[in-house]
Amino acid sequence: MSRAYNFSAGPAALPEPVLRQAQAEMLEYPGAGASIVELSHRGPEFLEIARRTEADLRALIGIPDDYAVLFLGGGATTQQALIALNFAAPGQPADYVVTGHWGRTALKQARPYVDLRIAASSEADGFRDIPARETWRLSADAAYVHITANETIHGVEFRGAPPDTGEVPLFADFSSSIASEPLDVSRYGLIYAGAQKNLGPVGIGVVIVRRALLERAGQPRADIFDYRAHLAAESMLNTPPSWNWYLLGLTVRWMLDEGGVEAFARCSEAKARALYEAIDGSGGFYRNEVAPAVRSRMNVPFFLHDEALDAEFLAGAREAGLIGLKGHRVLGGMRASIYNAMPVAGAEALAAYMRDFQRRRG
Ligand SMILES: *Cc1c(COP(=O)(O)O)cnc(C)c1O
Repeated sequence: MSRAYNFSAGPAALPEPVLRQAQAEMLEYPGAGASIVELSHRGPEFLEIARRTEADLRALIGIPDDYAVLFLGGGATTQQALIALNFAAPGQPADYVVTGHWGRTALKQARPYVDLRIAASSEADGFRDIPARETWRLSADAAYVHITANETIHGVEFRGAPPDTGEVPLFADFSSSIASEPLDVSRYGLIYAGAQKNLGPVGIGVVIVRRALLERAGQPRADIFDYRAHLAAESMLNTPPSWNWYLLGLTVRWMLDEGGVEAFARCSEAKARALYEAIDGSGGFYRNEVAPAVRSRMNVPFFLHDEALDAEFLAGAREAGLIGLKGHRVLGGMRASIYNAMPVAGAEALAAYMRDFQRRRG
C-alpha cells in the first residue's frame, strides 16, 4: 500500500517532507557522525535543535517574551495533573468547563490536588454544545479556569474570542488545535498541548505559560513535576525525548515554510467545510449533531444512519486510500481528523468518497 490520506486522531499524519528529512538524517545527522537519536542531548547538535525549535515555535504561534515555553516528556494528560500541582495551593478551588471527553480527563487528573469546581458542563446533552459564558459559575478565588480549546473526540471547538475570566487566569488544552489558526496567547495564563495531533510525534508535550504565574508556590512536589525546575534546566532536567523533540522541530519549521498559522487557518476552513457539507447535504445518510457554531475544524465525528454499514464504509474507504476513520470507542461511528498535515485534497477525497458510498448504498 502506498501512503494513504491518514485521518487518524493521534498519533496523526505528519507532513511527508518531515518524514523524508527524518529518514535522510536517520543514519547520520549532518556533520555529526551519528544519528541524532544516538547523541547526547547536551551536545552541540541537539542544543542547536532545541534552540531553533523554541525560536520557530515562538515565531509560528506568536508567543510573547513574558511567556516561557517548556518541552516536556509525557503527553497532555501529564500536564493536566501538573497544572494543578504547580498553580493551585493545597485545597484551593480550580474551575473546569467540561465540553467533552478531554475536559473530563482534565478533571480527573486534577482531582487529587484541588477543590474541583465544575463551572459549566455540556455533558447532560451529550457534549454537543459549549455552555454560554454567561452561564458559567466561576469562583473568585480559583487558581485557574480550565477549558479544552478543541474536544478531539466530541468534535466541539471554542470559536471566536477566548472567554473572559477576569482576574483568574485561563488555562487551555490546545492539544488538537494548536497552530491551526492565529492565537492570542496573551489572553491565556497557560496553554498546553501533546504534540501528536498537530505538532509532531507522540512522547512530547509543549507548555506555554505566563512567566509571572511560575512564582506561585503550588503544592509540595518533586523537581521533576515542577515547571520552574524544568524552565531553569531549559527542559533538560532529565534526558528529554530528543528524537520526538527533533521531529517536532522539523514539523514546526515545515509549518512556517508553508505560510504559518494564517495559511493553515484557511486550509482548515476549507477542509472542515468540505466534510460538513458532505454530511449536511446527505439528507440524513450521515449525521453530526454538534451545534454548528462550535463544530470543530480539526476533528469531524459523524455517524452513518445505519451502523450496520460502518464496516463496509471503512473497508471501502481503505480501498480508496483513506485510513484512520474509525471513531473513538467512547462515541463509535466515524471521525475524520484533519490537522495541518492533511492537505485540502485529502478532505475533498473523503467528501467525494462519502457521496459515492451514499449513491451506492443510500
Ligand atoms: C489526545 C488528547 C489528550 C491526551 O493526550 P496524551 O498525550 O495521550 O496524554 C488530551 N487532550 C486533548 C484535547 C487531546 O486531543
